[in-house]
Amino acid sequence: MAFCDESFLLSGDTAAALYHEVAARQPIIDYHCHLCPRAIAEDRRFEQLHAIWLDGDHYKWRAERANGVPEPLVTGAASPREKFQAWAETVPHTVRNPLFHWTHLELRRHFGIDELLDGDSAERIWTEANRQLATGDLTARGILRRMNVEVVGTTDDPADDLTWHEAIRRRPFGTAVVPTFRPDAALRLHDPDRVRAWARRLADAAGTGADTLAGLAAALDRRHADFAAVGGRATDHGLSRIPDVDGTEAEAAAVWERAMAGTPATPAEADAFAVWLLRHVARLNHAKGWALQLHLGPFRDPNPRLGRLLGADAGCDTIGDARQGPGLVRFLGGLAAEGTLPRTILYNINPADNALFAALPGSFQDGTIPGLVQWGSGWWFMDQERGMRDQLNMLSDLGLLSRFVGMVTDSRSFLSYPRHEYFRRILCDLLGADVDSGRLPADPEWRCHRLAPLVAAVCAGNARGYFGFAGSAS
Ligand SMILES: [Zn+2]
Repeated sequence: MAFCDESFLLSGDTAAALYHEVAARQPIIDYHCHLCPRAIAEDRRFEQLHAIWLDGDHYKWRAERANGVPEPLVTGAASPREKFQAWAETVPHTVRNPLFHWTHLELRRHFGIDELLDGDSAERIWTEANRQLATGDLTARGILRRMNVEVVGTTDDPADDLTWHEAIRRRPFGTAVVPTFRPDAALRLHDPDRVRAWARRLADAAGTGADTLAGLAAALDRRHADFAAVGGRATDHGLSRIPDVDGTEAEAAAVWERAMAGTPATPAEADAFAVWLLRHVARLNHAKGWALQLHLGPFRDPNPRLGRLLGADAGCDTIGDARQGPGLVRFLGGLAAEGTLPRTILYNINPADNALFAALPGSFQDGTIPGLVQWGSGWWFMDQERGMRDQLNMLSDLGLLSRFVGMVTDSRSFLSYPRHEYFRRILCDLLGADVDSGRLPADPEWRCHRLAPLVAAVCAGNARGYFGFAGSAS
């Protein structure tokens, strides 16, 4: 079997048929990522391979640091070519890390380059990729078109104006680009100067003051409606865990108003405020039929030295081990009790929480929308082959794989779309193996009318229906 060929990750004929005849033909609905809406609006042409492939990619930076590469060659002052060389020399050391697969899939799928990347091939690959980036259709929009991306859900702060999203809608191009409302900046109450500056920006964007809790709520409501007007269908929230507290309005008002006066919140006060904020947004989502995405579990900036040197989102975070169950159950239970539980997707970062996240949604269904509450795809430290297999298997064991809204890139790079191919191959391999071993029917009728639609649904159809995206002709 050749490396990364047509049958990559597909161990039998059934798996190959499911992948090539069904999965590979589905459009991509990338409902959660961190692509830059301005780059899409302006159809950015990337200056060179570093700008599109390494810049902002903390997975690669982390591998380089683990390989002993000094920081100037990772995120520092070295030239793009020097940084690319450092990455190329690291790639052979990423064997069995998903970066080894992603790297070579991305070179093949976007640039048609089959050569393995290492220190020796770096110059040839740099020259050829840059030639294509300068002249071909590998622009922001060109890549989305070539990858058959039907929807991109970017991640946006409610204080951001939606200029670039509006610009994209004025000049549509076949991929729907929708904003996702992510109000995490409101939660940094240990740093009142920062949160006050954010509240001022939010007030400007909403046209209403945000220095009282009622003002903040009104500003968030206004921006939620503004996001809806440009296609928004979801919010997203990143926390170490949902605090196991009530988070009453009176508590939240006291904490917020003290922060606006310059007093930092204690951890317990910040917890109460976070639960109030999440509940407020969940109610808005329920009213509009939006989805609430909860990304739970990272331990942010465990290394103060790297934190000071590099700032946030630079590849220094790790897997946290906070208890997830109590706060989640209390939060979802409260919403269910008052009849405002929205569509909810739960993402865990710690594989030790897999069974919890797979089982818990089953207790919060309400017989309206299939998979109303569901477990999200393998995320961050779990989006490699093992993490995806574990997630798909545990989901199958404890929930309904058939209702799963599927994969997201969660990426900052336009070149990450082969991650959907990676996921689809693994999905088809699992199902194909079940057919070949008699765990699922081999009957061609059943395959055609039951199994193939399941594959198509998990690849694209479920996400389209769940979020209410308009959908393409496919
Ligand atoms: Zn994300």
